[in-house]
Amino acid sequence: MISVRDGQNHVLAQITRTVPPELVPLTEALGRVLVDDARAPVDVPPTDNSAVDGYAFASANVAADPGRPLKVVADLPAGSVFDGVIGRGETLRIMTGAPMPAGADTVCPQELVVRAGDHVTVPTDLVTGTNVRMRGEDVRAGTVVIGAGSVLRPQEIGVIASLGQRQVFVSQRPRVAVLSTGDEVAEPGRPRAAGQIYDSNRSTLHGLVSQCGGAVIDLGIVPDEREVLRARLLEAGEMADIVITSGGVSVGLYDLVKDVLGEIGGIDFWQVAMQPGRPLAVGRIGSAHFFGLPGNPVASMLTFMLFVRPVLFKLAGRHRIFPETWEAHASEPLRKKPGRREFKRGVVEFRDGAWEVRTTGPQGSGILSSMVTGNCLIVLEEERGDVAAGERVIVEPF
Ligand code: AMP
Ligand code: MG
Repeated sequence: MISVRDGQNHVLAQITRTVPPELVPLTEALGRVLVDDARAPVDVPPTDNSAVDGYAFASANVAADPGRPLKVVADLPAGSVFDGVIGRGETLRIMTGAPMPAGADTVCPQELVVRAGDHVTVPTDLVTGTNVRMRGEDVRAGTVVIGAGSVLRPQEIGVIASLGQRQVFVSQRPRVAVLSTGDEVAEPGRPRAAGQIYDSNRSTLHGLVSQCGGAVIDLGIVPDEREVLRARLLEAGEMADIVITSGGVSVGLYDLVKDVLGEIGGIDFWQVAMQPGRPLAVGRIGSAHFFGLPGNPVASMLTFMLFVRPVLFKLAGRHRIFPETWEAHASEPLRKKPGRREFKRGVVEFRDGAWEVRTTGPQGSGILSSMVTGNCLIVLEEERGDVAAGERVIVEPF
């Protein structure tokens, strides 16, 4: 039996290369992984500019002649440049975002001035630099603003645009082939024969792959027939960076995945010390990484999250490959067998000043709806036994 951590280290050690880069427009960059550090070629903002609609002047000049009305020498809209110099006794009417003129270092908001004809009187207590946004105060030329391996969110995309770029190098989406196995598994939308169940795993895995930035290759449902499975897996290995199956990895009479993999590729079959999700087959078909996930819907989802997701992230060059975890107090006792890592589906909420978590109810590995009613996994470490109400536990929000 292998521990979750050793299993993760084993699969991650197999990943020695990342997928190639591609250039995409910023409009298609959301959720993609940045290939190189984004370094600013320019200062943002490019010039000192006004933070308000108001009047620009040198504060020293106002301090020298307190109360003296200033002559408004011009109006400066955003997008224009004033090429004169503001002298003593003068001011420039300036709009938000317009570059500061020479001879001025301070802006008084228009609400605070008294205007009479082409003169204004400004308060004398404005500190030098008030209402001026400094060149480079957002991003300084030459600095790294976004590190390689970051996932691009709207704000990263906005920062890249602020540097004047309209395209960006991101990792190609890793290609992930997904197939279901089992004579009992029926395609949703088609009639179901007696004894069959609808295929939920393929849809869940589609979603997980897409959510993790992969490109799904759907290879359908394969019956429990050795030759068909062999052919489909060989095909998958040629098309994909990662091949995922669900079902057929237990010790049943028709659990063929590990046998077939042993014939066409390399296979490590593990009993992972976790609940749910004990049986897991890991290996290779050609140059593709292979994961034979268990058939039970919660177990296949969980083993994807624990073993496939970090591999997919590492292939794509992401620098963060494990999810964030929090601590919460268990609001009910939890049964736990020492010696394996257990994952219960929980509902975590902030209550009376603290994070509290309860389970979603029955925890069978076929109860996929527990992933719907839950908002987190409750992660109970290997060495732990039963948990009493009030004890601290780790939760992983999803
Ligand atoms: P297996 O490992 O193939 O014996 O499957 C274990 C359990 O998971 C069985 O109850 C299967 O019916 C169920 N199962 C297998 N594949 C799927 C699937 N694609 N969707 C939903 N349940 C499945
Ligand atoms: Mg099966």
